[in-house]
Amino acid sequence: MIYSTELFDKAREIIDERRRRAEERTSLRLNAFEKAEPRYRALKQEMIDSVRDALSSVNMDRESAEKNLIRQRERNLNAQREIKALLRAHGLPEDHLETKYTCPKCGDTGSVGIELCSCFTELLQKLAFEEANQKSPLRFSTFADFRLDYYPDTPDPALECSPRAWMENILNVCKEYAADFDTNSQNLFMFGETGLGKTHLSLAIAGEVIKKGYKVIYNSAQNIFSELQKEYFGKTDSRGRFESMVLECDLLILDDLGAEFSTQFTDAALYNIINTRINMRLPTIINSNLSTKGIEERYSRRISSRLIGEYLGLRFVGGDIRQLKSDE
Ligand SMILES: [Zn+2]
Repeated sequence: MIYSTELFDKAREIIDERRRRAEERTSLRLNAFEKAEPRYRALKQEMIDSVRDALSSVNMDRESAEKNLIRQRERNLNAQREIKALLRAHGLPEDHLETKYTCPKCGDTGSVGIELCSCFTELLQKLAFEEANQKSPLRFSTFADFRLDYYPDTPDPALECSPRAWMENILNVCKEYAADFDTNSQNLFMFGETGLGKTHLSLAIAGEVIKKGYKVIYNSAQNIFSELQKEYFGKTDSRGRFESMVLECDLLILDDLGAEFSTQFTDAALYNIINTRINMRLPTIINSNLSTKGIEERYSRRISSRLIGEYLGLRFVGGDIRQLKSDE
């Protein structure tokens, strides 16, 4: 994945700040301990002296040098042991004076040797996903605030139950989907008229899946296509980054498919997204106001056959929930 220099700088800043804070905390602890335990300073000096005296071995004959090295090493270890004993006597852990970095592997420098540390690349990825999801329509929807009482409780002969019972079933499917989510989860196609809770439930799934640490892209089909288009025609400096996130994220949620302004570009992009993710066996959730019949009419056969054949269809029913909400 390719990241913009802007994102790089942002990640660098965060890592530098982590290191600064960790070192600041250590020096506060050091100062406090020095005040509480006057012997500490002398022991620290003893350790420094032992290293200096060990280095003087280079001017000695071999036998004396070996003896000196053993002696200085012993001196150094004794000082270390005494410091640990002092810490224990003060009721402090033995590593109290060591710097506790967020990433012990690189000491919050962001690199190990000449390689970027994994903490740095993980942070870059996290920032990129946050940036990609910034334009999501609704940020907070949960299963808990999904109101089944908005759906009519009277039996509907076409459903062989009430819309409420039907939607309760859909709600449970979505809850289970989120709870059991992994990158082998199936694709979902949520369809039904506007205002029946498709966006709400897919956002609730997104929230749960993100909490589990998976990388999720959530956005309207229109926004995703226009970002891809900008990138494709070189109007951003992200060079394929957004496209690889859309194609390779653990869960992609494409909201409101069918509302986009359809062009040759959007049709090709949609096919590429659906097809690539099926081939990579990565789950996708697509929401649409179009029925399966509407999908067949609107999109080419290669798109509609995959959407209908490879996705679990969830039909949303009931009255317009948004109308009920605004009437309250
Ligand atoms: Zn690191």
